[in-house]
Amino acid sequence: MEDIFVQSLVMRSRKESSLLFEEAKTMFPGGVHSPVRAFKSVDGPPLFIKRGDAYHLYDEDGNKYIDFCCSWGPLILGHNHPSIKQSVMKALENGTSFGAPSRLGNEIGKLILDNHRYIDKIRFVSSGTEAVMSAIRLARGYTGKDKIVKFEGCYHGHVDSLLVKAGSGLATFGVSTSAGVPESFAKDTIVLPLNDLKGLEEVLEKNAKDIACIIIEPIPANNGLLIQDHNFLVWLRTLCDEHDVLLIFDEVISGFRVGFEGAAGIYNIKADLFTFGKIIGGGMPVGAYGGRKDIMAHIAPDGPVYQAGTLSANPISLSAGIATIKELLKDGFYESLAQRTKNFLSIISTHISNKGYNMSIQSIGSIFWFAFANERIMEASQIDSSANEHFRKLYSLLLERGIYLGPSAYEVGFVSDAHTPEALSEAAEIINQCLDLCFE
Ligand SMILES: *Cc1c(COP(=O)(O)O)cnc(C)c1O
Repeated sequence: MEDIFVQSLVMRSRKESSLLFEEAKTMFPGGVHSPVRAFKSVDGPPLFIKRGDAYHLYDEDGNKYIDFCCSWGPLILGHNHPSIKQSVMKALENGTSFGAPSRLGNEIGKLILDNHRYIDKIRFVSSGTEAVMSAIRLARGYTGKDKIVKFEGCYHGHVDSLLVKAGSGLATFGVSTSAGVPESFAKDTIVLPLNDLKGLEEVLEKNAKDIACIIIEPIPANNGLLIQDHNFLVWLRTLCDEHDVLLIFDEVISGFRVGFEGAAGIYNIKADLFTFGKIIGGGMPVGAYGGRKDIMAHIAPDGPVYQAGTLSANPISLSAGIATIKELLKDGFYESLAQRTKNFLSIISTHISNKGYNMSIQSIGSIFWFAFANERIMEASQIDSSANEHFRKLYSLLLERGIYLGPSAYEVGFVSDAHTPEALSEAAEIINQCLDLCFE
């Protein structure tokens, strides 16, 4: 182990990545097509990735990394999975897009509807953002109400009305977090802290007649991993029913990740609408929204809520999704993945507690997050901004030694089915050594 550690340390150059990044900056804003990829909160240029295989990533400089970003979650089977590849190749034989119904749509529809208790009908789109945007419009169209509620610390894609944070004081209307979002949009969004039942009750009592829906990541995993009390989620469901407000579970990240039925399955809570993305496309651009039949009946052409897509349910994308879902449905898939993740993380958390570092690991299923605090964190405001500096230091150490995480203290990590127990124990050893270097 000591040898691997030292050897990998001398090999890593970022020369080629650096050159490519300089060139990219002349063409693309920030050199990237999605902001966090620019490595702004860690040191050095972003790695330009050449290929992935199983649990490994390879960059343009020829460095190899154990990947815990997994394309931000979609790759629950790891990179370049043989059955996804085969399924995509087969679909490609017949062309790339028809803009018409295909048998593949029925196939993936059946796989999902037969195995998810809470989805009666589903519509496929091309990204998580598009799924959320459509679900919000549907909730408004169905209820005839305009306001929506979201929680601080939940991310729902770059939907205008959801790029909003709390204004000052509870139950005041939101203010936008991005230029270009009209205040009039932000005003229709109410933002509440997570895990705060009383705040939620008050807002519903005052405003329910104007509120179309409450949207939540039932397992918030885009601002650290802010696992909620089960009771809070149960009450959320109850309050929505009492006040005739729709509940949307945004399961773009948790769906098919923590179990086939996502967070809804774990907590046994039926939301009215669900949004999906990431895993559902097996690494291809796919999103979906679905839920109660009577609500979905409001979508065009059955109903008055318009939503469409030239490349929706694209056959190549669906073929990757189908291959993925078939693997997920195999006996014991989630149990095995969760057990491997648990073993991996326990090596690290044992080390952390032996050394008394001011850190903890939050995790559920195969999602994990390094929190630079000892207490359980359930709300965005509990995250200390000093976490950024710790993370920056840790990140460089890890990258130098061949461990790749999402490049921000607020991003969670993912274990895929391709991560072998051996790879995970090797990674845990390296992480422990880096923690020592970081803290001592
Ligand atoms: C990733 C994510 C989105 C956005 O999905 P994109 O495919 O990036 O548009 C929305 N909601 C949640 C919970 C997500 O994790």
